[in-house]
Amino acid sequence: MSLCPVCSKPASAVAKPFCSPRCREVDLNRWFTGGYAVPAVELDDIDDESLEAAARALDDTPPQ
Ligand SMILES: [Zn+2]
Repeated sequence: MSLCPVCSKPASAVAKPFCSPRCREVDLNRWFTGGYAVPAVELDDIDDESLEAAARALDDTPPQ
C-alpha cells in the first residue's frame, strides 16, 4: 500500500497516490507555487553586473 506523499497517510483508491482529493490539491499547489522547484542559480551568485544586464534586457523596448 502506498502512502500519501503530502501527509503520509495510506493512499485512497479515489485519489491515488494521495489519501484524499484535498491532499492532491495541496500537492498541485506546491508545484504551481514552485515549492518543488530547484533554483537554477543561487541568488548569492548573481553579481550586480548580471542583474543590470537582465534589467536592461527587460527594459529593452523596440525602436519606434
Ligand atoms: Zn494526504
